[in-house]
Amino acid sequence: MNLSVAEAALPAAEPVMRRPSLAGRTRAGLAEALAEIGVPEKERRMRVGQLWNWIYHYGVRDFQEMTTIGKGLRAQLAEHFTLDLPEVTAEQVSTDGTRKWLLRMAPTGPRDRGAEIECVYIPEVDRGTLCVSSQVGCTLTCTFCHTGTQRLVRNLTTEEIVTQLMVARDRLGDFPNRSAPEGAFVPNDGGRFISNIVFMGMGEPLYNFDGVRDAIGVISDDQGLSLGRRRITVSTSGVVPQIGPLGGEMGTMLAISLHAVRDELRNELVPLNKKYPIKDLLEACRNYPGLSNAKRITFEYVMLKGVNDSDAEARELVRLLKGIPAKINLIPFNPWPGTRYECSDWERIERFSEIVFKAGYASPVRTPRGRDILAACGQLKSETEKLSARARLMLEQDEAEAATVAH
Ligand code: SAH
Ligand code: SF4
Repeated sequence: MNLSVAEAALPAAEPVMRRPSLAGRTRAGLAEALAEIGVPEKERRMRVGQLWNWIYHYGVRDFQEMTTIGKGLRAQLAEHFTLDLPEVTAEQVSTDGTRKWLLRMAPTGPRDRGAEIECVYIPEVDRGTLCVSSQVGCTLTCTFCHTGTQRLVRNLTTEEIVTQLMVARDRLGDFPNRSAPEGAFVPNDGGRFISNIVFMGMGEPLYNFDGVRDAIGVISDDQGLSLGRRRITVSTSGVVPQIGPLGGEMGTMLAISLHAVRDELRNELVPLNKKYPIKDLLEACRNYPGLSNAKRITFEYVMLKGVNDSDAEARELVRLLKGIPAKINLIPFNPWPGTRYECSDWERIERFSEIVFKAGYASPVRTPRGRDILAACGQLKSETEKLSARARLMLEQDEAEAATVAH
């Protein structure tokens, strides 16, 4: 092929041949990788165990550090794979110690610039909670939620969910032999920075059931990241058919985003309610596997001024939950640019909480954390939309070209 001078001067377009990362993979996924590079089947189980320990217990980022694995195999692994984590494109630290990371996922194809998602670390006196995302954006359109306004949506892969925890541990110095970055909160009981995980970031976890289930398998494995299932909470807006399977297959704690006590209002706030009304939702909760006084369901209730915050609604809430081992979590509404709602006044929230408390429920009001960096519940929304608009344009151009050629 003849190149013009101008073209010849340009560096040859590099084929985007990324080596896949092993970070975040399940045991089966690691075994597949070993099979790909010709590790004999009888050796794979042992090798998976070694990789597992280095990747998840020690958090190493370089195959050369895996000293229990022979040099030859280490070199082979490095030739075909990486241990890369998603790129941290922004880190914000709130005045209250909350940290928000914007993570760019590896591109899924030649036209994909890599979706961005957010995850948030919330240090408290007795625990450190990581709030993870299960999807890019959300297909549901709860009217009070910022994430619901993001148009581009896709499920995150198992690896993309697990690596959120790995990035957070990495950034906090929460892997053995790593030091904490300056200004990081250091647990004073010698415990780990991240003791709990909540699926309360972007997305509806029960619409990504398999991805979330497999990620929880990796996260809770006691040879690796070691976060027990009782310390993992999955929050759902009410995907009724998946609630039983969640308890059966994942065995985590459950949180329900209730937010209203009448179908008419809940239809408006959480449109999924039109498909699965309150009665069906509460029935699924009553049947949640493993439910007991020690394993209660958390009902989340966002406090919206003049919308769902009356005394009568507090009393109805208590009546509805009768007989379900429950905790009620009142969430002050976190505003975001362009929202039509306001947070209830503090006295109103206290009054509501008092009614719930007198009925015998713990009713902690969730202190908003990281509001100054838009890291609080429902404020997450990545800029992926902009990228997607560009990507869509490119795609349309491609299609137009293809159509011209075809005719
Ligand atoms: N999709 C899941 C999990 C992510 S949302 C769900 O809806 O449960 C996590 C929690 O934040 C939910 O209870 C959600 O209703 C709440 N939330 C959403 N937007 C909010 C906002 N602006 N202020 C306060 N809480 C909000
Ligand atoms: Fe999606 Fe949950 Fe936000 Fe509703 S509240 S739009 S389900 S992320």
